[in-house]
Amino acid sequence: MAYDPNNIFARILRGEIPCRKVYEDDFALAFHDINPKAPVHVLVIPKAPYVSLDDFTREAPAELIAGFVRAVGAVARQLGLEDKGYRLLSNIGRDGGQEVPHLHVHLFGGRTLGRMIPDAD
Ligand code: 5GP
Repeated sequence: MAYDPNNIFARILRGEIPCRKVYEDDFALAFHDINPKAPVHVLVIPKAPYVSLDDFTREAPAELIAGFVRAVGAVARQLGLEDKGYRLLSNIGRDGGQEVPHLHVHLFGGRTLGRMIPDAD
């Protein structure tokens, strides 16, 4: 799947659409999800055009992969979640339920999240 430069997260990265920013560095931007599913629900996205984690792990340079993964940890620590814990999730493609075709990691926290994933609805 080719990267669509007009997807909503690309537009957020370009500043064309506002977001509630949590964290930013050279590699990543993190912002609150518009429709939160937990007391903390933040999206972490790389500052580069990758459709999904599949695309990213095939094509991205090692420096960006390392920077992005470090940014995810930094966001969680900035939010004070490292002691109680949190959950990361990245939807990939159709079966994964991915809606926005720019790689994003969901970071959930702020309550006990239960085990794994709910049944499909
Ligand atoms: P996906 O299903 O692709 O893994 O998740 C996309 C997420 O992006 C959803 O949780 C949705 O609520 C969030 N989202 C969609 N549009 C916007 C937006 O314009 N701003 C923000 N902050 N989140 C969005």
